[in-house]
Amino acid sequence: MSAQGYSGNPAVQVTNQLVDNNSRSVEYLCGDCDSVVALKRGEPIRCRNCGHRVLYKQRTNRMVQFEAR
Ligand SMILES: [Zn+2]
Repeated sequence: MSAQGYSGNPAVQVTNQLVDNNSRSVEYLCGDCDSVVALKRGEPIRCRNCGHRVLYKQRTNRMVQFEAR
């Protein structure tokens, strides 16, 4: 049994959770006050600054690079 220490490594689990949270957070622009609202999956679409419910998806750096090519 040489794989005993590998499968039960707690440090690997913590790292995976942090990466998962960052990748699922999406930034939106409020259609009313133009403030940036970062929402995670499952959260209601709503501006935290003014309470407006219409948010626009912000253009990411990836999109700009893709169009430039
Ligand atoms: Zn707003």
